[in-house]
Parts: sequence; C-alpha cells; structure tokens
Amino acid sequence: MNTFDSLQLQLRNGETTCEQITESYLNQIEQKRHLNVFRSLFAELAMERARAVDKKLSNNTAGQLAGMVIAIKDVINIKEHPTTCGSKILENFISPYDATIVKKLQDADAIIIGKTNMDEFAMGSSTENSAYGVVLNPIDETRVPGGSSGGSAVAVAANLSRTSLGSDTGGSIRQPASFCRIVGLKPTYGRVSRFGLVAFASSFDQIGPFASCVRDVAHVLNVIAGHDERDSTSANIPVPNYLEKLTGNVQGLRIGLPKEYFADELDAEIRNAIMQKVELLKQHGAEVKEISLPHTEYTIAVYYILTTAEASSNLARYDGARYGYRSPYAIDLPSMYVKSRSEGFGQEVKRRIMLGTYVLSAGYYDAYYRKAQRVRRLIKQDFDNAFKDVDCLITPVSPTTAFKFGEKMEDPLQMYLSDIYTVSANLAGIPSLSLSCGNDHQGLPIGLQILGKQFDEETVLRIGDFLERC
Ligand code: GLN
Repeated sequence: MNTFDSLQLQLRNGETTCEQITESYLNQIEQKRHLNVFRSLFAELAMERARAVDKKLSNNTAGQLAGMVIAIKDVINIKEHPTTCGSKILENFISPYDATIVKKLQDADAIIIGKTNMDEFAMGSSTENSAYGVVLNPIDETRVPGGSSGGSAVAVAANLSRTSLGSDTGGSIRQPASFCRIVGLKPTYGRVSRFGLVAFASSFDQIGPFASCVRDVAHVLNVIAGHDERDSTSANIPVPNYLEKLTGNVQGLRIGLPKEYFADELDAEIRNAIMQKVELLKQHGAEVKEISLPHTEYTIAVYYILTTAEASSNLARYDGARYGYRSPYAIDLPSMYVKSRSEGFGQEVKRRIMLGTYVLSAGYYDAYYRKAQRVRRLIKQDFDNAFKDVDCLITPVSPTTAFKFGEKMEDPLQMYLSDIYTVSANLAGIPSLSLSCGNDHQGLPIGLQILGKQFDEETVLRIGDFLERC
C-alpha cells in the first residue's frame, strides 16, 4: 500500500523529494479544478516549504511529517491567510493568528497546500451549503462528497493532497470519508486543540484527519493530539504513539453491535457489507455481541437542539461591526446588524440561528434546551454502560451511500436524518473512525464506523488498520 511510511523511505533513499511531491499535487489540483475543492491555494508557499524541508532532510533535521502534503478545512485559522468558513460573511476575513494544530503541523514539517471548501460554518451533510459552490464527488461527479468537510475529503480522494484536516460536530469528517471511500477520524472531545478552529457548537466540535489509510491517520494524529493551554477543554492526558498500536491483532477484543443501529429499516447492502467485516473480526479472535443503546431514538432531536443553541450564541459575533461582511445598505446601528447578518449568512445558517434562538428563549429554555441537556447525559450513559461490556462498537456511518446533488436540499429534515449514526459520538464525546467496507450495487462506497471509549483512539485505529490489512 502507498502509505506515508513508504514515502518517507523513498525520501530518505533519495528516490523522490518534497519538491517533486508538492509539484505533482499542484499539477493534480490544476487538472481537477472543476471539483471545486480549494478555497485558497498556497502554491508558491508550499513549494518554498518543500524546498526548505528537502534541505532539512539532507542534513537529517527534518520533522516527523516531512513530505506530508496536507490540506486544511477553511474553518481553521492560518495566520495571514483567509478563513471563509464557506460563508459570504467572512469573505474578506484574514486570520491574524495560527490555530495550534497549524503550528504543530508546521513544526513537524508538514506542507500545507491550501484550504478546502465546506458547508457554511460546517452546517450540512453535502457541502451544498457553501457560499462558494458545491464540491464534486470524484467517484461520481453527479453526487455529493458528503459534508460538511466535503472539500477536505475530496482533496484526499482525488489525490490533491496526501491527507487533510476536517472538523466534526456531528459527522462532518466521518460521513464525507465514507462517501469518498477514504478514512476519517473524529478524535475524543479534548484530544485535539480547538484553538483557532472557528466555533460551530463548542461542546461538540473536534478537529480530525482524513487519509487514504489508517496508518496515515495515525501519523497525523500523533502530531496534532495533545494538551493546549489555549484551549481550556483540551485534555491533559498523555498521547501514545498511535503508530505503535497498529499491531494487526484483534484477538480477544470485545466488539458490540448496537441493535438500534441495525434496525430492520437498515439498507440490506450496508448491513451485509458491515457484517462481512464483523465476521472477519470474529474469525481472527474478536468476540462480538449485540448490545443496546436505549436512548438512540432521541439523538437527532437532542443534537439539533443543542448544536443550534450553541451556534446561535457562537455566531452572534458576526455583527458587521467587528469583522467580516458589513452591509453597504445600513443606515443606522440596528440596520447594520440586521442587514449584515441577513445578507451575509446563507439559508441553512439562518435556519439554525433561528432554531437555536428559539430553544434558548425564555419560556422554551426548560422545555427544549435544558431537557436536551439531560437527554444528552442519558445518551452518554448508554455508551458508558455499553463500554463496561465491550471495548468498541461497530455501526454504519450513514443510512445511504453518496446521494445526488439536490436530492435532499428541499427537505432539511431529510438532510438532518442522514446524520442518525454519527451524531451520538459527538453527544458522548467519544472517538470514532470511519472507513470503507465495500460498495453498493452502483459501485458507491459503504462506510463502517468504529466507536471507542474516551481517549481510546488506539483501539479504534487498531481495528481499522486490521480491517484494511484483511
Ligand atoms: N451534518 C451535521 C450538521 O449539519 C454535522 C455537521 C458537522 O459535523 N459539522 O450539523
């Protein structure tokens, strides 16, 4: 397999250079412009970096990600570059600072090639909510790449960068990974610093990697994970070397299949593809049992109440006064707020701000927001109970494979329901890996999700790596 390990070997043996690698990605990007993956491209900067890293390689001072060309979702700040979040309201915004993970990647000698298109403020499941046009799925260009990190998923799937970073609030890394036949990890809440990640729903958001294989995900996680003083929710828990944990051994692992995620309505092709992999795990010594997550039926409702509430508060800062778009039609302060926000935000973002404002408003707060908080706890407890008996859970990623453009845009509820299997990991704050496990009758990839205990990324990665090797 073409892993980053083999590339590093080639670099060390002088068979290739960072300059050549970067140039070839830039050529690919040029050829695949119509996919609309990049919001900004750092062609010259990346080439400069590549040459600098080549020098370091020649005198043995290069960092652990030397040769890793990576794309970053346009919701993560890079100093002196635009961050649009896929929104018109941030069209001309230039970040004055670097996200912590950007610094970490640079310190490790990764080469950041550009920033990727996304659903506006990461709200969506298809990348159709970007103010800058849709991203095409390279597997079938009439279909969505998933979302909201559609650009980052396609960057890897179309070979425009080796890896990429996305953000996942309710599935935005895992679902596009599965729609594009690649791997995506949402780490435990607190595992990766959110400093410099533009907030959507702060108690859910987490940054994570996309790659074409689990080993490459581990390479990136090794660098971006860890405590950060500038993110008070980041955890001060030691980071293992994830690569060392990919032993290929699943003997004795206890795997749970939540019965609510395999209900009768589940598409037969998706069920069969997943069960084949589960069989493989069994054959290699894993123990598989059915478990129950009794509050599953509430996950979508709870997720959409809490994330819209948090979003309505987080997005209050885009007011036309401090930064971002200001309406030229304003005549006084109130009209500046109203017009800047009305003209700057897209339809889905406005819908969520209104929903969130509603569930937080006096008189409805107890009925919606407070109640949803309580149910979130019950959902978390479901997982805690399950993890007393098993080491991880396996489920589908999405109820369908990649759908056609426009198919769900008229019906927001339909779009929300497509998040049914992914939002629970964010509600519970647990890590979750998405990888491909087969194709449907149309040749579209089917995703398999592995959920683990808090801070147990190593087990979900180990299982994912095992499945890739089989
Ligand atoms: N599709 C989900 C939503 O629209 C998840 C988005 C995300 O993870 N950023 O909220």
